[in-house]
Amino acid sequence: MKFELPKLSYDLDDLSPIISRQTLEFHHGKHHQAYVNNLNNLIKGTKFENADLETIIKEADGGIFNNGAQVWNHTFYFETFSKNPKAEPTGKLAEAIERDFESFAKFKETFAQAAATIFGSGWAWLVKNASGELEIIKESNAGNPLRNGLTPILTCDVWEHAYYLDYQNRRPDYLDSFWKLVDWDIVEKRY
Ligand code: MN
Repeated sequence: MKFELPKLSYDLDDLSPIISRQTLEFHHGKHHQAYVNNLNNLIKGTKFENADLETIIKEADGGIFNNGAQVWNHTFYFETFSKNPKAEPTGKLAEAIERDFESFAKFKETFAQAAATIFGSGWAWLVKNASGELEIIKESNAGNPLRNGLTPILTCDVWEHAYYLDYQNRRPDYLDSFWKLVDWDIVEKRY
């Protein structure tokens, strides 16, 4: 299976100034593209040559896992944003957030705290577990919750390449701004 870089559903200037055109040009156009290219090269002649991404994430190791998971993670991350996002969840996801985190405000605080304290590169995730409960987890490097049987609902990329051009070392400022781009209409569909 040859993988391709998914197109963004918004223009490169649409997320500015929270995520600038320059960041998207590098993050989507260079980094995400590189993971796609690396994956296509690495799977040639292996048992993963015709596998889908979910299978690669669950079963592969080393470079094939790293690049496959990074392709999936970035697609999921970029899909979360829109130019005119719905600012808060409603319906069943809103109820589950209140049930498991007390309030939407408390959820955002806990998620941002998790994202801020990932040492080095990684991803903060909101996931649904097998019992239907929501959890916040931290993953290093290319980590992806599918590998542990969890359902991803929301993620935030805290690799420096996600924010360094716009926020330099100020990861907490990037995390504060992140919420302004999250489209809960999209996130709700994953729950
Ligand atoms: Mn990234």
